[in-house]
This record gives sequence, structure tokens and C-alpha cells, in this order.
Amino acid sequence: MPARLLLGPGPSMVHPRVLAALAQPPVGHLDPEFLSLLDQVQADLKRLFKTKNELTLPISGTGSAGMEACFSNLIEDGDEVVIGVNGVFGTRMAEVAGRLGAQVVTVKSEWGDIIHPGAVREALAACRKPSLVAVVHAETSTGAWQPLEEIGALARSHGALFMVDMVTSLGGCPVEVDAWGIDACYSGTQKCLSCPPGLSPVSLSERAAKKIATRDSKPRSWYLDLSLIGSYFGGERVYHHTAPISMVYALAEALSLVHEEGLERRFERHERNHLALLAGLAVLGIEPAAAAGYRLWMLNSVRVPDGVDEAAVRRRLLLDYGIEIGPGLGPLAGEVWRIGLMGESSRPENIRRLLTALACELGGDGVAAVREADAQLSRVGS
Ligand SMILES: *Cc1c(COP(=O)(O)O)cnc(C)c1O
Repeated sequence: MPARLLLGPGPSMVHPRVLAALAQPPVGHLDPEFLSLLDQVQADLKRLFKTKNELTLPISGTGSAGMEACFSNLIEDGDEVVIGVNGVFGTRMAEVAGRLGAQVVTVKSEWGDIIHPGAVREALAACRKPSLVAVVHAETSTGAWQPLEEIGALARSHGALFMVDMVTSLGGCPVEVDAWGIDACYSGTQKCLSCPPGLSPVSLSERAAKKIATRDSKPRSWYLDLSLIGSYFGGERVYHHTAPISMVYALAEALSLVHEEGLERRFERHERNHLALLAGLAVLGIEPAAAAGYRLWMLNSVRVPDGVDEAAVRRRLLLDYGIEIGPGLGPLAGEVWRIGLMGESSRPENIRRLLTALACELGGDGVAAVREADAQLSRVGS
């Protein structure tokens, strides 16, 4: 495979230490050394999610497996579930919950906008007995950054569990699972954790664990049954399915890198580079597309300038410069590019490379764009 600079919606760049971890010879999934590495991964995930939740562990599979694990363990037939839909991933949540037998109530917003708490309040008021409210923290398909606390409080006031998709936010901006009253959340390894795709860290609160323990029916999915998975992680070490050993090595190393950098510094880096990218793009006449005040640091959705063939430019960036950026999806197809600055990808040198390449392709002033990005970097004090 060719070497690429990954500045799309994921996967992101992988640190050489994580690549080296993947190359280590596997041991058995009940080897005491492996079990203690799993303990370390769980402890590092708790620090990252900011939670004391016992049920914090990596699900085997990508982010969507974590989504399906949370829903299939928390939903029973006919449960009323309120889901915010303002992009691809809210749409996917509604699809997954519906397939699992939930009665899905969607709360919609324009793509690029956030889910408004007032709309959630109305939807909840119209429900008989809502059991769960779910939203996406970082809508990777649009670049919108969803505020969570108010919607969480609304869910609680109706006795419903609060679920959050943290696939793109975890490791790139603050998340506070306990402080924000989140009952279930899931993430992925290939976005801001800068690991290859393959595991989905999840965390479930005591309230969620109680719901699972008192279900009338077994979860529809055997593979994703958290009671069974929990007895492998939780001390008894009962075999359920073989842990993806090499991916756990990689995640352990990626989490070490996150904590060595420090969460605050890591989040500041994502913010600083986001601002620098936008400053440089503005010089090239490229403006952000997500709602002002709710723009993600790690995923920049930006308007394609009028008259530009967005697919052709993206293709040339990939083939002639080795740089990947993402297309718009759904109603934003053809309208926006999605530029990811996730984890290892969020570096000033990557921003300079992208701005230079874009300026060449669009016929803009690349020197001025890079200078503006650099001026922004020095303003926020790199
Ligand atoms: C990428 C992503 C997912 C899905 O994760 P996969 O690893 O592709 O299964 C879910 N939600 C959000 C917000 C994402 O960005």
C-alpha cells in the first residue's frame, strides 16, 4: 500500500509505537500477562472517558459494533427510544435501534446543525414511557459538535437512559461521562485515538448495568451480549470469544501515548490546529460549513468553492500529493469536503502540506495561506 497522509474522517495516522505493538507476537487470551494488559487498557479507558464505570471495555469490532452493543443490551421489544438525527450517524443509530425492535422517535435537525434541547423536550413529552435518549457527540458526517448536558438532564427527568456516540470525540476534545450523567457511550480506535480500526471502547453506567441485569428477554445479539463479555473482563475470565490480541496491544500503546501527552494538552493541540487550518483555508476562499459556535476541532467540514469539481480535486490530492480528505455525505454530497485533524493527524506540518496542495490545485496563494495558518498557531501559543 502507498504511504498516505490521512486527513479524512478516519482512519487517522498511526504512531510508529502503535505499529510496532501490532507486530508483537500474540499470546493466549487467558495468558496472565495478557490479562494484566487488559486491566491496564480498562483503567486507561476509564481515565479517558472520565468515569468510574466498572463496565468500561473495548468491544471487538469497529465503532458501529459499539453502537450495536449498547443498543442491543439496553433495548427490549417495543421500548420507546428518542434519537437525535442530524447526519449519517444519528441516522444509523435510528436504523440499528429500529432493527432491534425499538419504537424509534427521531428528533431531526438540518445536517450541519446540532440537535436542539427544546425539540428533545417536546419529543419526550409526547412519549408514554421513554426508555432511552441517544445523540451523537461529534457528527463526523457534518462537523457539528453536540452539547450534551441539557439533553442528558432531560433524559434523566423522564427516567430514560442517556446514550452518546463518542466515536470521533474521544481523545480529541473533553468528554465527561460521569459528570454529564451519560449512561452508555461507545467510541472507535481509528479516529482521535490514532489506532487502526478494530476495537470499540464502550462505557456503561450502574443504571445501564442494572437495566441489563433486569431485562425480561436476552439481548438479541449473542456476540455483543455485555453480560457474557463482562464475565471475561470482570474477573472470572470466562471464555466468550477470543479477544483480538494484536488490536489490544495496539490500543494499549495508543492509550499510553494519549496519557503521556496528557488530556488537556491533547485537546488544546486539536483546538489550536483546527483554528490554524480554518485561518489558512480562509485565505484560499474556503469557509467552514458547520453551524458557527458548534464546529468540531477534529473534523472540519468546509464548503467547496463555487465552480470547483470537488471529486476531481480530492482525487488529485490523493494521487498526486498522497493526501486523503473526505467527501460530503447525504445532503452535503458535492457541497463540502471533510478534513480530519484527528489524533496523530492533527499536526501543523500536515496543515501546511494540505494548504500548499490545495493552493496549487485551486490556483490560490499558498504562501499567504501557510503564513496565515502559522500566524494563528503563534497567536494561541504553540
Ligand atoms: C466513524 C463513526 C462511526 C462508525 O464507526 P466505524 O468504525 O466506521 O464502525 C460511528 N459514529 C461516528 C460519529 C463516527 O464518526
